[in-house]
Amino acid sequence: MAGKRVIVVGAGIIGASIAWHLAKAGAEVTVIEAGQPGGVATRNSWAWINASWGNPEIYFRLRTRSMAEWRRIDREVPGLEVSWCGGLTWDLPPDQLEAYAVEHSAWGYGIKRVDRAGALRIEPNIKQPPDFALHVPEEGKVEPLAAALALLAGAEALGATVLRGSPVKWLEEKHGRVVGVCLNDGVLHADEVVIAAGAEAGSLLGSIGLSYDIGAPAGLLVHSKPAGEILHTLLQTPEVHVRQTSEGRLVAGADFAGTDPADDPRGAATALYQKVQDMVVGAEQVELDFHTVGFRPTPGDGFPMIGRPQDREGLYITVMHSGITLAPAVGLFATAELLDGKRDPLIAAYPPDRLLKAK
Ligand SMILES: Cc1cc2nc3c(=O)[nH]c(=O)nc-3n(C[C@H](O)[C@H](O)[C@H](O)COP(=O)(O)OP(=O)(O)OC[C@H]3O[C@@H](n4cnc5c(N)ncnc54)[C@H](O)[C@@H]3O)c2cc1C
Repeated sequence: MAGKRVIVVGAGIIGASIAWHLAKAGAEVTVIEAGQPGGVATRNSWAWINASWGNPEIYFRLRTRSMAEWRRIDREVPGLEVSWCGGLTWDLPPDQLEAYAVEHSAWGYGIKRVDRAGALRIEPNIKQPPDFALHVPEEGKVEPLAAALALLAGAEALGATVLRGSPVKWLEEKHGRVVGVCLNDGVLHADEVVIAAGAEAGSLLGSIGLSYDIGAPAGLLVHSKPAGEILHTLLQTPEVHVRQTSEGRLVAGADFAGTDPADDPRGAATALYQKVQDMVVGAEQVELDFHTVGFRPTPGDGFPMIGRPQDREGLYITVMHSGITLAPAVGLFATAELLDGKRDPLIAAYPPDRLLKAK
């Protein structure tokens, strides 16, 4: 239904994508962001777009669909600049790597097996090339903060309003229906409220008595100073996952989800960057610049929460890890459900209420 008034709480990659898709479909959209747009997890993400190992086929299908949707929005939204640079992976023992290749190839994922010479042809700057690795040319990356801001600018160009520095204090309810949000200067009403507040979603939903199993593990990434082109792909090695940004920084974590900073983030960053320098030719000459710690919105079973709670009208929940990969599909599917009542089969397995905690 075009013209529906929708509030989107949170301007990370998920809120920005939903806002853009809703505005494009004709909804009257207000995005409300507590801080500066660009998210908490989003701006600190490794931002690998993928459908890699470790997930069941049903989730693989959602991820590959979203990879295709990245190509669509990349054509439509100025400034997204997705780089389909491919991934080079050997972060599993060879037998498990082979099992992943067999399984995902059967599902249609474009995996190529490469030997040591093949790995070096793709990434000449690996110091200790593996005997066996997998190359997935169809994987990609974005600069996550820039992508979220580009989607938000696109939403504004389509008529959406963005309120910055405006925390939602609680959700406003009337007769069992969410009718708006309470801000510092009063209540803003809407036909629908979308929660895209990342790791903070739990506390907002708590304001109307809904308690979900959502975690927020910390993930530390190191960022080098900008350098000339050293890496071409996203590298996933047993020691470190590392890629290079569009401005030339090497960005790495123990894996894509970042390193546990424990109680010594600076020490963790130094040790991690040493591994990057041990892995990549040319990194020895590039200094570590800074590290970031992001909090990953993580539903209790590891899969996304997308949809309406059963007993509360006017409310739509979106909380997930791999939100960079999933943002375009979530924006598309949430819009179809919010405006036309159509729930895409690819998100049927992810109703939020499966993670409701018993009272
Ligand atoms: C280290 C790390 C590595 C990662 N690597 C990958 C990867 O390689 N690939 C991948 O697909 N995903 C990855 N992720 C996960 C991905 O980044 C997240 O799933 C995604 O960014 C979540 O986006 P979001 O918009 O839901 O949340 P966020 O980016 O956290 O945005 C939520 C926004 O809501 C706002 N907000 C919160 N509460 C309120 C309130 N009360 N009122 C108003 N606004 C509010 C916040 O200020 C914030 O701006 C990684 C994450 C981290 C931290």
